[in-house]
Amino acid sequence: MKEFSIIERFFTAQSQPRQDVIIGVGDDCAITTVPTNQALATTTDTLVAGTHFLPDTRASDVAHKALAVNLSDLAAVGAVPAWISLALSLQEIDEDWLDEFSDTLARLCEYYGINLIGGDTTKGPLSITITAQGFVPPESVATRSGANRGDLIYVTGTLGDAGAGLDILLGKLDCYAVEGLSHQAQASAEAFLQARHHRPTPRLLAGTALRRTISSCIDISDGLLGDIRHIMKASQCGALINVDALPISTHLANVVSAKQAIDYALASGDDYELCFTLPEENVSELETLLNSSGVNFTCVGQMVGGAELTLMYQDSPYKTDSEAYEHQFMVPPIPKI
Ligand code: ADP
Ligand code: MG
Repeated sequence: MKEFSIIERFFTAQSQPRQDVIIGVGDDCAITTVPTNQALATTTDTLVAGTHFLPDTRASDVAHKALAVNLSDLAAVGAVPAWISLALSLQEIDEDWLDEFSDTLARLCEYYGINLIGGDTTKGPLSITITAQGFVPPESVATRSGANRGDLIYVTGTLGDAGAGLDILLGKLDCYAVEGLSHQAQASAEAFLQARHHRPTPRLLAGTALRRTISSCIDISDGLLGDIRHIMKASQCGALINVDALPISTHLANVVSAKQAIDYALASGDDYELCFTLPEENVSELETLLNSSGVNFTCVGQMVGGAELTLMYQDSPYKTDSEAYEHQFMVPPIPKI
């Protein structure tokens, strides 16, 4: 199959074309319109086989993650997604893989009400780059730089699940070896943690609901330790994190020790939850906004003066060797054909 027939077969059909797409896939550029009074938010993320996902990952999971990591960036600034473009580098034309990948991508685009408006298809090591664009009122943009001393630090959802999911896939963590847990609980922990690695949930509703209530926001892609530092640096503050307050899922708590769970939550990658700060007087507004969205949220600390990150466990300093997660080669790169 030639490039244009791949594009035609797998990436042209849009089940719900958006009104703001004047020209989509098929011309030299996509042409779209941005609503008056809205700013355009743009983000790009690449997933490389062997670095960001294991080469034997199902095509549907690859599609899910490639989209979710981009939508998570839009969520972090409070934007509503509108369009994506897709740059695909393929080692070979595997029609089954492309079928599954494009089906999942199309289904998710429909779910989020977004359109695939263009892209590029080349031969090379398997890698997927998505650029996502969305709208946010310019006065409501959530940034990394707005946190102030005294602001409370919150996170959505639970932390550390995706890192544990990756360790299961790499054979470093075995849920079935955990004693005192029923076979059913072992199986559901494994399924849950792997799903959190493969199919993260971008916190779009939380991002747009909170954008006017919070002082800063970031999505947690490289572990809380690394990502809170981005807020600290951009906002010129220190931070204090109470590690005993970190939200840990029941499944993670079932299969690792309390200390291991904290380390996963602090320093493993790919959770794609939001970390945000807000002044204490906005907490009741936060509760009203998020309680109706069905997204869990937890206060994990406070911004402080200075530039240090302090970790506390039950009022004593907490020591950890963990640092921010860096995506490494999970396996040696696959040779080209
Ligand atoms: P050009 O050579 O003008 O850059 P291409 O031949 O690369 O155009 O692509 C033809 C059309 O198909 C363009 O509209 C482009 O945006 C779109 N396209 C190419 N690859 C993809 C893809 N993987 N997904 C979606 N659209 C794609
Ligand atoms: Mg062209």
